[in-house]
Amino acid sequence: MKQTVQVIRILCIGFACLFASQSYAAELPDAKTIQAAVDKAYKDYKTLAEGANADYIPALAKVDPNLYGIALVTADGKLYKAGDLATEVSIQSISKVFTMAKVINESGVNSIYDNMGVDATGQVFNSIVAIEQNQGAEMNPLVNPGAIATTSMVKGGDGKAVWDSILNYYSDFAGRQLSVLDDIYQSEAATNQRNQALAMLMKAYGHIEGNALEATDIYTRQCSVGVNAKDLAVMAATLANGGKNPISGKTLVKAEDVPEILAVMATAGLYDDAGKWLYKTGLPAKSGVGGGIIAVSPGKFGVAVISPPLDPAGNSVRAQKAIADISNALGGNPYQIIPH
Ligand code: GLU
Repeated sequence: MKQTVQVIRILCIGFACLFASQSYAAELPDAKTIQAAVDKAYKDYKTLAEGANADYIPALAKVDPNLYGIALVTADGKLYKAGDLATEVSIQSISKVFTMAKVINESGVNSIYDNMGVDATGQVFNSIVAIEQNQGAEMNPLVNPGAIATTSMVKGGDGKAVWDSILNYYSDFAGRQLSVLDDIYQSEAATNQRNQALAMLMKAYGHIEGNALEATDIYTRQCSVGVNAKDLAVMAATLANGGKNPISGKTLVKAEDVPEILAVMATAGLYDDAGKWLYKTGLPAKSGVGGGIIAVSPGKFGVAVISPPLDPAGNSVRAQKAIADISNALGGNPYQIIPH
């Protein structure tokens, strides 16, 4: 009898340990459910005609506003898609995430923290006031001044070597060789005087060591890299998978450095609506004025939508709605926990 009680006790402790070690975040649903969520979001917003293309970079105004593609890549590398996965748009501000990742990978998480900082500015993405408030500190790598300073921190010698290593790094994230959309680059390079001014101010306050105008030019190139929805989803999934591209198997950021990258995306990824976005979805994300948005559900998936028309805050209208619906249907919010 005593022995039976002992066996039952051991079994109970075993089960308790098993459950205690389980994650209480719900698992991703099956493949059919994931594809259904992607298809539904595509259908629900296909005819939505809100927002307008960015036009402060003249070439962006010419991009087809009907372009609409959705891709979701799970942390173990499975692709789900709907709509246009072939057409490339310029990556724009989404690039800032991957240059930040590169600098963190080369120089550690403190490099970003100690230079431009990791706080939301409460100002627009290309604000001069935001620089003046704290002499170029207390901002983050996802607003233009912080992003150009981040680009200036990439190691590699001369401008050409730095640019090559940035492009190769993005390509490793996407799992294929990416290239610049030259019409976008020419258009932005001809009209980026404000970014040059931001960079010169950052230089004046000691946040850029080298040539500020060269850093601005490399930054302009990085914003002009062409990506389709699948590229962006694989890039996001690499962050969802702890810094390792789930398709190529290549590690691009150390797993222990990914939380810092996601934290900056969470606080500053969607311009002035970053708080509203986080409130609705809980997802670290980044948008770009080319019409793309990426979002990361850590350990689960990366998702990307391309649709050029933007809302007044500068975020793609369809992309926000589609990603929020898909993630909510799949339990993607990392703060959503099943209680013990
Ligand atoms: N290349 C754009 C700029 O510097 C990026 C802006 C964005 O996507 O937010 O203005």
